[in-house]
Formats: sequence, C-alpha cells, structure tokens
Amino acid sequence: MHSGVPESGQPLLSISGVTVRFGGIVALDGVSFDVHRGEICALIGPNGAGKSTLFNCLSRLYVCDSGTIAWNGQALNQLPRHRMAGLGIGRTFQNLALFKTMTVRENVLVGSHSQHHAGFLRNAFRLPGVAQVEALAAAKADELIEFLGLQAEAHRVVGDLPFGTQKRVELARALASQPQLLLLDEPACGLNHEELHSLGALIRDIRDRLKVTVLLVEHHMGLVMGISDRVVALNFGKKIAEGTPAQVRQHPEVIRAYLGESEETAS
Ligand code: ADP
Ligand code: MG
Repeated sequence: MHSGVPESGQPLLSISGVTVRFGGIVALDGVSFDVHRGEICALIGPNGAGKSTLFNCLSRLYVCDSGTIAWNGQALNQLPRHRMAGLGIGRTFQNLALFKTMTVRENVLVGSHSQHHAGFLRNAFRLPGVAQVEALAAAKADELIEFLGLQAEAHRVVGDLPFGTQKRVELARALASQPQLLLLDEPACGLNHEELHSLGALIRDIRDRLKVTVLLVEHHMGLVMGISDRVVALNFGKKIAEGTPAQVRQHPEVIRAYLGESEETAS
C-alpha cells in the first residue's frame, strides 16, 4: 500500500540472526528480516520450517539462543516478561486458545485488559475513573464484535460455536488489546471455502481501517499471495527467499521446498 513511498525511520519489528535450538533440532537458524509499519507481511514455509517458533519468540514464549529481536528499536529480550502484554503485539494461535466456557463478549473483554494498566492501578487505589475505563473497554469490545460480525453470537458460550466463528472470536480478542502488530498463525487453517474468502478481506480491513500491521503465518498460498505486501519464506529454519508475492512465488528454492509438500498445503 505504501508503494513508491520510501520507507522512513526504523522498522516496527527487526529480527536479526535469530537462532533457536531444541536439543539437536535447529528450529530457527540465523533468521533476519524486518516488518515495517502498515504492511501485511507473510511468513511461509513447509511444516516444521520454524514459523510458529518465530512467533513464540516474538511473544517471549520461547527464548532465542542467539540473535536479537527489536521492537521499535528496543531489544525484546531486555524487557521484563510482564511488560510484553502492554507492548503492542497481539496474536492468535495455530491451535485456538480461547476461554471456551465464557461468552464471546467476555473473551473479547479479557483481551482488552492487557491494555488497561492504568485501570488496574486506579482499581488498586480506588481512584475515580474505574467506571470510565470499564466503559471504554466495553465500548471497544462491542466495536470489535461488530467489526468481526459477531453481534448475533456476542452472548453465546464460545465452546458451542462453529470453529470458523471461534477463530473470529480469537481475532477480536487479539485486537482488543489494540496492538500495533498482529501475529496471525495459520488463520485460514480449518476454515470452509466461504470463510476463507472473507478472511482475506478481513485481514486487509484490519490493516486499512484499524491501522494494525500484520505478520501472517499461512499455508494457503492463494490467501498469502492475494493480500501480502511482502513474503518471507523459511525452510528448515533458514530464510530462503524474501520479496513481493510474485518474486517469492517463482523463487527456485521456494518451488523446491514446496515440491515435497502435500497438494493440500500447496494449494
Ligand atoms: P512450523 O510452524 O513452521 O510448522 P515449528 O516452528 O512448529 O514449525 O517447528 C520447527 C521445528 O522445531 C520442528 O522441527 C519442531 O518439531 C521443532 N519444535 C518446535 N517447538 C518445539 C518444542 N517446544 N520442543 C521441541 N521441538 C520443537
Ligand atoms: Mg506452525
């Protein structure tokens, strides 16, 4: 979307030489790339390439063995872990992580709480403003419920809803923290044809209307190539290509990496 406009300032996220080992497995091997404000950047690669591992490093669930991850120029691993929630990085998980016995609206409200440190302090000291902060969170939750077309399900228990709907609830909850960057781990996985079709438009809307930068891990090539500004390809923990969707799609190493993949994932 910023085509022709020179990139100014530091990247929102800068990943530099990141290596992660699990015993003998090198899940990430010196991976470097940047994510710039306002872009939709996709991370692709066959199963086991290291995509989820990278997301887990960004959320500080995993620790890098070497390399650095800078957020707005600040090294992530130097921040105390409890500061991560308020930092501005939201995410969804490859396997849904929702509170299944709570309603849609309650799940979205949980998401907004990571943002309200001020509310927490006001609560603790019984200062005025608690009601205002709560009202603001509620208004934000309702806005997101509408944005994701979940009004009809707002008061239903999440565990009773179809999978595709639950995935939208997870998105709403991730957005409730008002992140600057949204990490989506295989958002198309398990969706039906119709849901898949609207997901692309939805991710674009998240970027265009909510002004959230998106880093997307996705297997569905049609979706990736249709919405991404830039694509980074991993294989066996190494970056093998980076560029526009058109450039990456015809990169020989990317083609080779995907030849061994099942037809389902290469679609
Ligand atoms: P992708 O998301 O690209 O499919 P992953 O990041 O999940 O790949 O996995 C990359 C490699 O790291 C795989 O070989 C996987 O088995 C391994 N791995 C990921 N997480 C763990 C873990 N917690 N413990 C041991 N091995 C792991
Ligand atoms: Mg994965």
